[in-house]
Amino acid sequence: MTKTLHHRACHLCEAICGLTLETTRAEDGSLAITSIKGDTLDSFSRGHICPKAVALQDIQNDPDRLHQPMLRVGNEWQPIAWDEAFALVAERLAGIQARHGQNAVAVYQGNPSVHNYGLMTHSNYFLGLLKTRNRFSATSVDQLPHHLTSHLMYGHGLLLPIPDIDHTDFMLILGGNPLASNGSIMTVPDVEKRLKAIQARGGKVVVVDPRRSETAAMADQHLFVRPGGDAALLFGVLNTLFSENLTRDSHLPVEGLDDVRHAIAGLTAEAMSRQCAVPAEQIRQLARDFAAADKAVCYGRMGVSTQAFGTLCHWLVQLINLVTGNLDRVGGALCTTPAVDLVASTGGGHFNRWQSRVSAPGVRRRVACVGLGRGNAHRGRRANPRIGHGRGQSGVVDAQWSATGARPGWPGVHGQHRSLYQRDDAVCRPDPALHLGAGKRSLRHHLQYVRGA
Ligand code: SF4
Repeated sequence: MTKTLHHRACHLCEAICGLTLETTRAEDGSLAITSIKGDTLDSFSRGHICPKAVALQDIQNDPDRLHQPMLRVGNEWQPIAWDEAFALVAERLAGIQARHGQNAVAVYQGNPSVHNYGLMTHSNYFLGLLKTRNRFSATSVDQLPHHLTSHLMYGHGLLLPIPDIDHTDFMLILGGNPLASNGSIMTVPDVEKRLKAIQARGGKVVVVDPRRSETAAMADQHLFVRPGGDAALLFGVLNTLFSENLTRDSHLPVEGLDDVRHAIAGLTAEAMSRQCAVPAEQIRQLARDFAAADKAVCYGRMGVSTQAFGTLCHWLVQLINLVTGNLDRVGGALCTTPAVDLVASTGGGHFNRWQSRVSAPGVRRRVACVGLGRGNAHRGRRANPRIGHGRGQSGVVDAQWSATGARPGWPGVHGQHRSLYQRDDAVCRPDPALHLGAGKRSLRHHLQYVRGA
């Protein structure tokens, strides 16, 4: 028997913990995973893993795991060669688009698309060739307000400043539960230790959440906010920062702050308290504490995205970091320098360029093909006949392909597929205040300069 150690990254969630896998090759040539541990040499995760990673070998060894493409013939699934599968998919895609137009092909990308280098680096080229407007993903039920805010303020939807959790003195978390999510849109393995490290160095963690989440339970302060009242609370904080002269100059070139200050002049902590159910004095004290910290960061996640004022919330999160001098600053909110720089290699995005007709009453639309980038829309298709026939459409799924490696037709309804049919219900709602974006052009250029882009 031969044992081999492999160093890999867990791709199951955004934390990308380093793993050390031991495989054993038996004398008959078979290979088995015999151990999965956290990689103590990984400077990012420092040996941390969660139980999901330990179960990776169950996926690897699952007897139903696909090892090659399958073609459905009648009610049967037959294995086919990769070349044959690629040729078939290309022929079907081209045929569907030739018959029904480019937009007859829809694309759905699931969350694991962003945990896979191949899809990260190449899916956009492929999708660009498809030239379809019908692209759907988990994004629309998660973080579109992040992207829209960055697009409008900084000029690129993927220019997302993230909390510098390892250096901050004050972390304000709204609508996020990093202990459960492992730091969504901030990629933080071992987040509990990192949050405790803030407290250990004399800093403070404050959680704003209608629920006593795991993160709220370990925080120094938990403010129970009325569900959907986060924007009001953030307005109260921002107003206090302005009215009590708690702002700090940013080294970034900023435009439009006077407009913001003027626009929110009446949104005092006292006025906002009625909307968010947090006492005015607590809102004011939160602003004072945030401003008093040498290095502070305000972080908002899904709970402040998937709600009526999601975009407004994220605009305010950015502004609070900006006006306290914590944007693009160590210990504040930093732009990243990723190995695959999607900001440099993609366009900045657009907003409302096309109108979806999916949920317009009486409108019938045909979706001829659903493509899946490691998504699971096909799970729902079996269990939920609305897929392909949803919301009064005559939609027919003629062809599917998937990069999941999972078996076709997994049972169970996956909520994310709803975005394909309920795009118009997406929570990303433009808000009139957004035109007050702070110096989007100059700030974008400066951030790109800082990042060496
Ligand atoms: S937190 Fe768990 S699932 Fe996520 S990357 Fe780390 S080990 Fe994998």
